Amino acid sequence: MAKEKKCGHPACNCTALNGDKYCSPYCHDAGKLTELACNCGHEGCAEEMAHEG
Ligand SMILES: [Zn+2]
Ligand SMILES: [Zn+2]
Repeated sequence: MAKEKKCGHPACNCTALNGDKYCSPYCHDAGKLTELACNCGHEGCAEEMAHEG
């Protein structure tokens, strides 16, 4: 069965794909950095920070 696990990015709330540590190439690259926000582009992730109008 597919095992869901949280993305390795500290600021990412997405679920990493089975076998992957990160949900996207962006997080894979930014995972080692300490960012306050995630820009992976997934819906519902870091979107609230840019919620205007
Ligand atoms: Zn994210
Ligand atoms: Zn992610």
